[in-house]
Amino acid sequence: MSKQPILEINNLHAGVENKKILKGFSLTIHAGEVHALMGLNGSGKSTLAAILAGRDGYDVTEGSVKYFGKDLLELDPEERAREGVFLAFQYPVEIPGVNSTYFLKAALNEIRKHKGQSELDAIEFLALVKDKIKVLELNEDLLKRSVNEGFSGGEKKRAEIFQMAVLEPKLAILDETDSGLDIDALKTVSSGVNKLKRPDSAQLVITHYQRLLNYIIPDFVHVMADGRIVKSGGKELALELEANGYDGILKQL
Ligand code: ADP
Ligand code: MG
Repeated sequence: MSKQPILEINNLHAGVENKKILKGFSLTIHAGEVHALMGLNGSGKSTLAAILAGRDGYDVTEGSVKYFGKDLLELDPEERAREGVFLAFQYPVEIPGVNSTYFLKAALNEIRKHKGQSELDAIEFLALVKDKIKVLELNEDLLKRSVNEGFSGGEKKRAEIFQMAVLEPKLAILDETDSGLDIDALKTVSSGVNKLKRPDSAQLVITHYQRLLNYIIPDFVHVMADGRIVKSGGKELALELEANGYDGILKQL
């Protein structure tokens, strides 16, 4: 029985102004799968994430992106979010004094309305949030913080995993932060990804750190170079990367 993919990217070419960044990127993701997208800095990973989220400023010149069979690129970012695409921090950044859970509640209720479910009131939302915090073994202080205000790289990642747990996306895209993650943050992110794995949703975890894959067990690993996937495999590809580095893999091609 063949099932419809959640995401089907076919021969995507895209860039900014006159710079080509993605050069024939193809990837298919089915429900229940965790994919790791790896590659050296500058290979185009974050550009791909930005295009999937619908961020402004990128031109797609060729290829297609289907989400549950529909053209994802035709949807505006808010529609994508409502339809269950999650890219961390597509919600407002750095708004001092505004509690981050305010946005999360609004985002969740948008998604619930879209699904025909009732909106959660403040008390119901708080109960949900506390439950997720417990499951993820996070600190409740997270709830008191303003949106991204003064978050460290590790804290941003924790907040991101928390947002993902609350919103229960169909497709979660986790891009690495620019700043390095300490080992605790790495473990929180990884265990979050592992705990939030569901048969009806998928995760695309983007990183250039091989060590992230010591904690997350992806179903598929893809190595990206110069705007496209140059090698795909199972989790053993991550081990090969660890042993031989990107050079080792790219040399074989
Ligand atoms: P990665 O996330 O794999 O490190 P990026 O997608 O951030 O890679 O960047 C890929 C390439 O595109 C890099 O050479 C980067 O400098 C360039 N690039 C990305 N975004 C822009 C932009 N907005 N304007 C100009 N160049 C960009
Ligand atoms: Mg990046």
